[in-house]
Amino acid sequence: MSIVVQGVTKLYGEQKALDNVSFEVKTGEIVGFLGPNGAGKSTMMKIITGFIPASSGQVLVNGLEVGTDNLEVKRQIGYLPENNPLYPEMYVMEYLAFVASIYKSNISRKVQIDSIIELTGLIPEQKKKIGSLSKGYRQRVGLAQALIHHPDVLILDEATTGLDPNQIIEIRNLIKEAGREKTIMLSTHIMQEVEAICDRVIIIDKGMIVANEEKSKIYSIIKRPKQIINIEFDKEPDQLLLAAIKNVFRVKHIQNNLWLIEADGDEDVRPALFDFAVKNGLMVLSLQKHESNLEEIFRHLTSS
Ligand code: ADP
Ligand code: MG
Repeated sequence: MSIVVQGVTKLYGEQKALDNVSFEVKTGEIVGFLGPNGAGKSTMMKIITGFIPASSGQVLVNGLEVGTDNLEVKRQIGYLPENNPLYPEMYVMEYLAFVASIYKSNISRKVQIDSIIELTGLIPEQKKKIGSLSKGYRQRVGLAQALIHHPDVLILDEATTGLDPNQIIEIRNLIKEAGREKTIMLSTHIMQEVEAICDRVIIIDKGMIVANEEKSKIYSIIKRPKQIINIEFDKEPDQLLLAAIKNVFRVKHIQNNLWLIEADGDEDVRPALFDFAVKNGLMVLSLQKHESNLEEIFRHLTSS
């Protein structure tokens, strides 16, 4: 286990930001930490990285107890805090050299910085001031500082918030790339982010964990089919044959030759539907696929 959180409670004065939270993140996993604003995500991440203490409970990172061995813990963790605080007056290279100097490393500092600049796609911007960079590039600098000491564990707090769609995809790809050899916990309120990169989803609401599931199993929580399809044929299909298509578990006649198909599984059911039409001498006049998404599950679990 890379991260073990046991019964962590955090009080800010009277307010309970975390209430007896426990979970684990296995080595090599990418876990999405999902929750509405104010749920306690950033607080949990600050506690895991040793930036603030828990009121009670325990956190272990690679077997080291956070709070007693914070220097070593920080060496093992790369942390991108929420809002990515950087020094706008510093140059990219200068800033990364500064961060690298904090960590002892056997690799030459120049090699270390050059390789991280390359990995995070910062080559064209490396000589600029941080303050003059676009938000997407600033986020890359944030990732570069989190990765520079080759930590095993990455904690990313809202890494793609405020980026445009292209930047989001670029940063996600960077995270996925880094995730090949690291354990990652990333907080987000964007469900597609979890869909795109995570293996497991932990949902937190009002300081309490309300779901902790493998991504592929999360749909079963609210018993929603994964794929919902509206299909219109040119004439009436055989309902029994339609229902016998792989992964289809419900077919419903809507009107005329329009049918609603509910299917499970990751395998797209649409090719099988076209196949069915061809084999039965039918024509598909229209087809719309609606994916049951995490958004619905999230709303279901966190609406009060
Ligand atoms: P999230 O990251 O999920 O949006 P936070 O961890 O930032 O949530 O906040 C959880 C709760 O704790 C919120 O109600 C927030 O207002 C409160 N909180 C966070 N930081 C502090 C602080 N330094 N002092 C007092 N309350 C805080
Ligand atoms: Mg937050």
